[in-house]
Amino acid sequence: MTNKTMQANKLSPKKFLAPVGQLGKALGRHFPRTHLIAAGVAALALVGIGAMSGDKSEPRRHALPIKLAQAPAVAGDEITNAAEAEATPIDAPPATELRSVEQTVRSGDTLSTLFDRAGQPIETMYQVLGSSKEAKKLARLNIGETLVFHVDQEDRLQKLVRQHNRLESTEFNRKGDDTFEMSRHQLDPDSQLAYREAVIENSLFVSGIEAGLTNGMLMEIADIFGSDIDFALDIRKGDRFTVLFEENFLDGEKIGNGPIMAVSFTNRGETFEAVRYTDTAGDSNYYTPEGKSMRKAFIRTPLDIGRISSHFNPRRLHPVFKTVRPHRGTDYAAPRGTPIYATGDGRVLKAGYSKANGNYVFLQHGERYVTRYLHLTKRKVKTGQRVKQRQVIGTVGSTGYATGPHLHYEFLVDGVHRNPATIVRKLPKAKSISSKEMDRFKAHVAPALAQLARYSGETLLAQNEPTE
Ligand SMILES: [Zn+2]
Repeated sequence: MTNKTMQANKLSPKKFLAPVGQLGKALGRHFPRTHLIAAGVAALALVGIGAMSGDKSEPRRHALPIKLAQAPAVAGDEITNAAEAEATPIDAPPATELRSVEQTVRSGDTLSTLFDRAGQPIETMYQVLGSSKEAKKLARLNIGETLVFHVDQEDRLQKLVRQHNRLESTEFNRKGDDTFEMSRHQLDPDSQLAYREAVIENSLFVSGIEAGLTNGMLMEIADIFGSDIDFALDIRKGDRFTVLFEENFLDGEKIGNGPIMAVSFTNRGETFEAVRYTDTAGDSNYYTPEGKSMRKAFIRTPLDIGRISSHFNPRRLHPVFKTVRPHRGTDYAAPRGTPIYATGDGRVLKAGYSKANGNYVFLQHGERYVTRYLHLTKRKVKTGQRVKQRQVIGTVGSTGYATGPHLHYEFLVDGVHRNPATIVRKLPKAKSISSKEMDRFKAHVAPALAQLARYSGETLLAQNEPTE
């Protein structure tokens, strides 16, 4: 038994996912620290939803439609110049001025209830629905999305805006008497770089959240370093990470986080660095500062939490049959429902059920490699489907011949079973930066790496200051 597997058996799966409530003792006085850095990106002019939907002067109305007996009062610009005010008579609103009625999708709503609440006849709904392929998707709305109905003075629908989220919308503009034309709209948020760092006290998640990172970003960090660090088994107290990422703003309000731009992680004294780069083909990936891909062809473990409960062993006494049967895979004991990842990009060779395997998924990766995942509670993929590395393909269970919830994982090379725990290190890495793109890569990643180094350095200096 290797040193590594002894450690593996000692650790409880809770180590990685300790509940947020059980916060470890407060981190040192310099944590969490946040630096906001104006990104080198030029600030983009931002417009509100009203402007995006095309009628800047029209205030958004949240009320249910009220049939107006008269033309609405002019809501246009106030005239401040008195002389001009006298000289310019206030015109009646042009015939094209639209009134907007906003409807938010609530539980139980259908498109027809929304049209009804907006005071629109069912015929108009069918005209919109039949106008394009995109319009048919209106039949499947998500709770919380909004539809903005822009109607003319005869209450005729001139424009319907589906607001998918703060940034994305689809518009359907009336074109003639009985059809609509579709267009898509996307706002660009204002981005700033932000910096966070944390020292791990008991788990990546507890310390990371205490340092102001989101669950999603911590998963991203685990993903970036997934082939160098085994986040289920290798994390130790005192490990640390620093991360530079984008924060997105719309009208000065934070609306979410963009991608991680650069990150460094020190695990048991060894420091790994990664930087995001979008290549000339438009693909974004993480690389070492030297341009090597962070992504190996396969990640080491198909789940984030768990411990190895049974090793690859050609001469094992089977726990159910009590006979010597080779154990051709690695078993990971993990709570029922734990997500299982595809360890590499590939295609689903077979997703099915058998008496022995229970629910199972077999993946084909290129010509030579097959991975197998057995005893799942649920399969999340179908035979023939393409999968990406770290895509969830199922959840841990105990279907088939299994004594308790665990994942049985096999790795085959040219049809021969290999030890999953050791084979990955011997396999080739994913593609690195080509020599002809290296100059561009270096130029693009240098600022982010310099900033990461500068802020990490500042923290170290601050830590070494004498305390008063
Ligand atoms: Zn097994």
